[in-house]
Amino acid sequence: MVPLIPTRLKIGLDVPWVTSWTEEIQGGVGPCPTVDGQPAALQAWKPGLGKPLYSRNHLRRQRDSVRAMLCPMCGDATTAGDRWSQTGHFVAAGALRTRGFGPALPVDLDDDRVLLDAGAIAPQHLKCAQASLQRCPHLGAMPDRELKAFPPSWVVVPLYVAAENSVTGRPLSAVSFLQLLGITEGRDANWRDRLPSV
Ligand SMILES: [Zn+2]
Repeated sequence: MVPLIPTRLKIGLDVPWVTSWTEEIQGGVGPCPTVDGQPAALQAWKPGLGKPLYSRNHLRRQRDSVRAMLCPMCGDATTAGDRWSQTGHFVAAGALRTRGFGPALPVDLDDDRVLLDAGAIAPQHLKCAQASLQRCPHLGAMPDRELKAFPPSWVVVPLYVAAENSVTGRPLSAVSFLQLLGITEGRDANWRDRLPSV
C-alpha cells in the first residue's frame, strides 16, 4: 500500500472546504441530519486526504453548507449582510415553475418575483468570495464576475437520486445535494419573454 503523503494544500485557502478529496469514497444511503433524518447519499469524511477534486462537492459538506449557511470556502457560518454569490443567477419564480420547480416553491410566491438561484453553492463571506475570484481560474474566467448580495430569505430545494434500501433492496429516493434559491424583493413583469423558445 502506498502511504498517503499529507497534503500541503490548505483547506479554506487553496482548496474550498466543500470540495471532495479522492479518499472520500461515495457510497450508500442513510438518514442524515442535514435533511432532518431523510435518506441521503453518503460519503466518507476525510478532507485533506488524497487529492482535491475541485469540480466535485462533498455530499455531506454541501448539504451542511446550505442548511447551516456555512461558507463553502472556509466552512465557517456566514451571517446576514455578509453572504455573497458570484455564480448565482437571477430568475423569476414563474420561470422556475415552468421547469418543474413548482412543488418546491412557496405557493404564495408570485410568478414575477425574482429569485437568486445559487444552485448548489451556498453564499460566501465577502473576503472568501473575493479570494476565490482571485485564486480560482474557473471563476476568474467567467463572464459574470459580479458578487451579488444574497437575500435575507431563501428556499432550499432537495435534489434526489435513485437508490435502494440496503436491507430490503427496495428502490427509494435519497437526497444528494441541496439547491438554494434566495428570495429577492425584485419583480420581473416580463419574465415570460425570457423563457427559452421551445
Ligand atoms: Zn468564508
